[in-house]
Amino acid sequence: MANLLQVQGLKAYYKTEMYGISRLVKAVDDVTMNLKKNEIYGIAGESSCGKTTLIKVLSGTIKNPLKVYEGSVNYQFKRGEKDILTVPNDELQRDIRWKEIAYVMQGSMSVLNPVRKVMKTFEDIIATHEGIKNRKEFNERIREHVKKLGLPPDVLKSYPHELSGGMRQRVAIALATVFHPSLIIADEPTTALDVVVQRGVLQLLKEIQSASHNTVMLVTHDMAVHANVADRVGIMYAGRLVEEAPADVIFRRPRHPYTQHLISSLPVIGDKTGKGSLDGTPPNLANPPEGCRFHPRCKEAMKICKTQVPAMLDMGEEHRAACHLLNNEAPEAKQ
Ligand code: SF4
Repeated sequence: MANLLQVQGLKAYYKTEMYGISRLVKAVDDVTMNLKKNEIYGIAGESSCGKTTLIKVLSGTIKNPLKVYEGSVNYQFKRGEKDILTVPNDELQRDIRWKEIAYVMQGSMSVLNPVRKVMKTFEDIIATHEGIKNRKEFNERIREHVKKLGLPPDVLKSYPHELSGGMRQRVAIALATVFHPSLIIADEPTTALDVVVQRGVLQLLKEIQSASHNTVMLVTHDMAVHANVADRVGIMYAGRLVEEAPADVIFRRPRHPYTQHLISSLPVIGDKTGKGSLDGTPPNLANPPEGCRFHPRCKEAMKICKTQVPAMLDMGEEHRAACHLLNNEAPEAKQ
């Protein structure tokens, strides 16, 4: 499958000043990855692992004190190739946000205006990006769009506070997909929802992706969501991508100790054995540990882990992992 996005050696840091001392918080540190056209790519990891910073860079919403220090972020959009790090802000606003890259956030209220009915929010977004030439055609287009997504037409006449949390999140997805973007970034889209509503929202995202053949980047710490929805999964720890594979491969045979912990923590019906927790907390990214950043918490850490950053190794089956334990197992090591 062709790539939609290629990220190469990305380093995005926050520069902070406190009491005259400047610090670099290495939130995304040397990440290389790609997103294919027509796939759901899940990003997982604990809080503060760099997921949100990665999204900010990929969506071109970099603001002070966040800065990209190295790397490239190249898209193959419908309208041609773009390095998003070099696109001027007015072009980002006009041609890329919403039209090529749409963002579904955790709190749907951040995209819905509380004092405007849902139809007015559609109007605001479309008027900004395309203008509204024919009112009747516009109304029909929006009605058709929400109908296709299985939403009742009455949502358009509602204020956000009149809708349930699940319905608001569905409306946020409807807004994000109105221009049929190449990439939908969904950031913890189901975190505040109960399990039944969560299922409906994920189902909707899946249906949109399979009907429109666009790419969805699904960001959540919830591995069960990835198991149900994602085609491929990338695991981040302390600003780095530590493992990546097709979902069935990573859940069948996780290779990195951190991924193994995340997957073994998933509840299994009928299993009454206790789930082990991980000692310690994620490191301070202003002063991350040398070598493998997971070593202070890793039960399998070796001497080399404290000094040398493990390389990302190709394990076959589109499976990559960065761990010194795998040094002799990667196909290239056996040649
Ligand atoms: Fe653990 Fe070492 Fe592998 Fe890091 S490189 S995950 S510390 S074994």
